[in-house]
Amino acid sequence: MSSGGFDLHTHSLRSDGTLPPAAVVEAAAHGGLEGIALTDHDTTAGWDEARGAADVHGIAFIGGLELSTELDSRSVHLLGYWVDPEDAALSEECARLRGERERRARAIVDLLVASGAELDYAAVLAQAGDAPVGRPHIAAAMVAVGLVPDIVTAFDLWLADGGPAWVPKHALHPADGVGLIRDAGGAAVLAHPAISTRDAAVDEGLLDVLTAVGLDGVECDHPGHDEPAAARWRALAVARGLVPTGGSDFHGAAKAVILGERATPARAVAALQERATPPARAARPPGSNPAGGTPAGPHHPTARPERTRSW
Ligand code: AMP
Ligand code: ZN
Ligand code: FE
Ligand code: FE
Repeated sequence: MSSGGFDLHTHSLRSDGTLPPAAVVEAAAHGGLEGIALTDHDTTAGWDEARGAADVHGIAFIGGLELSTELDSRSVHLLGYWVDPEDAALSEECARLRGERERRARAIVDLLVASGAELDYAAVLAQAGDAPVGRPHIAAAMVAVGLVPDIVTAFDLWLADGGPAWVPKHALHPADGVGLIRDAGGAAVLAHPAISTRDAAVDEGLLDVLTAVGLDGVECDHPGHDEPAAARWRALAVARGLVPTGGSDFHGAAKAVILGERATPARAVAALQERATPPARAARPPGSNPAGGTPAGPHHPTARPERTRSW
């Protein structure tokens, strides 16, 4: 594990990671990180446990989530930090996504069964518990019943985007996702934009659109990015005044990455936090700053362009 900095991208049992939130935080502290963000998929349910562990171990905790959005039937992930977990619109979308995940998982199991696999949804639920159901849970269930030797093979043969048992989950346009995070008082970061060569949906054009609606940062450093990809996205981010971040996308035993790799330096975390809008200010209509004072976020336009789902 690397030393210092913040791991801004981690998953626990509250989504598709394999460790409880407190154990993720404990591992981060033992590895010498200054702080950690818990970014479970479409839920903030692990925050209280993680924050308690961070207090015990004396490291900083940032509440986060990884919000699923969709563009051209492709998945685009956004990381949201410092959001108000009680925000009605964000909570509603997360609840809707959790239901959508269940619908999708059942459809994936149906496709696998139609291909001759002996698997039932109960085996998937046994993996997910009450967490939002993710493909890694389906992959783990496939491993458990002996359909594939490991999770990576399950993705390669069946579950990867565009694979024979892939079913997209329906989600908001990424621009609307950025709006949800910003309006909930958070900082919004585009996750792993170069993670897959199939992911042609994430390009400079999308980055411009998201920047115009208040995107705050780009996760340039990620285990799925090689150095040229990381450098390219760093340059694209910096040119737009966005904060480049990094994270391990730790999933415990479900993914071969090391907690703390690709850490974000404290000064970048501070720059990101400065851009997060406290909920009270997020609720204020654009342009309502008293006496023409400073805008809500140091780098944000006071009036954001109207968001639409038709981009
Ligand atoms: P879901 O949220 O259900 O679409 O699943 C997304 C998760 O699946 C990501 O967080 C990754 O951890 C994992 N994943 C996606 N693609 C792959 C892959 N090709 N191999 C292994 N894990 C993957
Ligand atoms: Zn995941
Ligand atoms: Fe992701
Ligand atoms: Fe992730």
